[in-house]
Amino acid sequence: SAKSRGRSEIAYYEKGLTTGVTERMMLEGELRKALERNELELYFQPKIELVHQIIVGSEALLRWNHPQLGLLTPDRFITLAEETGLIIEIGDWVFRRACEVAVEWNRDEQKLHTVAINLSPRQFVGKDLVSTVCEILEQTGCSPRWIEVEITESLLLDDQPSTRRALNKLSELGIRIAIDDFGTGYSALNYLTRFPIHILKIDRSFIERITTDRNCEKLVKAIINLARSLRMTLVAEGVETKAQALFLENLGCHQVQGYLYARPGPKSEIEGSLLNLASWTLGRDYRDEGDG
Ligand code: C2E
Ligand code: MG
Ligand code: MG
Ligand code: MG
Repeated sequence: SAKSRGRSEIAYYEKGLTTGVTERMMLEGELRKALERNELELYFQPKIELVHQIIVGSEALLRWNHPQLGLLTPDRFITLAEETGLIIEIGDWVFRRACEVAVEWNRDEQKLHTVAINLSPRQFVGKDLVSTVCEILEQTGCSPRWIEVEITESLLLDDQPSTRRALNKLSELGIRIAIDDFGTGYSALNYLTRFPIHILKIDRSFIERITTDRNCEKLVKAIINLARSLRMTLVAEGVETKAQALFLENLGCHQVQGYLYARPGPKSEIEGSLLNLASWTLGRDYRDEGDG
């Protein structure tokens, strides 16, 4: 159970093995085998449209069911995966699994449920990301319309021609592109006009302070207005209180994600809550609203 997994993780912490090279070396070897051993799992966190209070999609969030340490979140192993290059293989697995789930969750043609996939900058280097994506879409029968990819500002600031080509191709396929953790990188806002960006996800650190810090409120308001005028969909991450949700709705934010609505959970758990809510919907394109 999650509880006993949690306890074994605490026991491990207490042994003091989490700092330094010991854990790192151990995890590196084990991460290599995690894929074969089927220890990786995707959790999903619903995304809610504020105006209609309906679920419009989910973000896929990677988990590692470590045999001794229990359930590990990405902060424990993504950097390691990036440094060792394992992120390529893991990223392919994530993409395939997310597409399989997107196929299941879009069986009803009247409804659209997008699945968002986080991509590491490393996945844009070397091996051809776009051909892998095309292959996975074809093999799983997944429509590009059902998929969003989340990238970070750092990838765009690097401004490699190959990155730009890849993003253009993904966008041409019909995959929507989101900037994750928006506002936390170095802001060179001109990249917003040079890359095909459809969605901005305002970082949780802004949302945390939105109801208590007037400057933060103004900043979020400015981000929302900027993105709306560029015809992007706005998502706020880390919404934990009703007050934050109300604030965001009044500021014109389109969608929210956060513990207030749902924590990330295994596929079966999310399916349960989706069925209860019975709120799947036709997708909306905010570009049609036209206030920009
Ligand atoms: P992210 O993409 O910004 O995902 C949001 C993180 O915030 C998730 O952490 C989620 O569990 C957490 N979160 C959601 N709502 C709330 C809330 O209301 N309050 C708080 N305090 N936290 C909330 P998680 O799952 O630990 O993932 C951390 C990061 O790891 C992700 O940040 C993403 O950058 C990365 N990641 C996750 N899955 C993958 C993956 O498949 N591939 C790659 N390359 N990176 C991934
Ligand atoms: Mg994300
Ligand atoms: Mg994020
Ligand atoms: Mg974040």
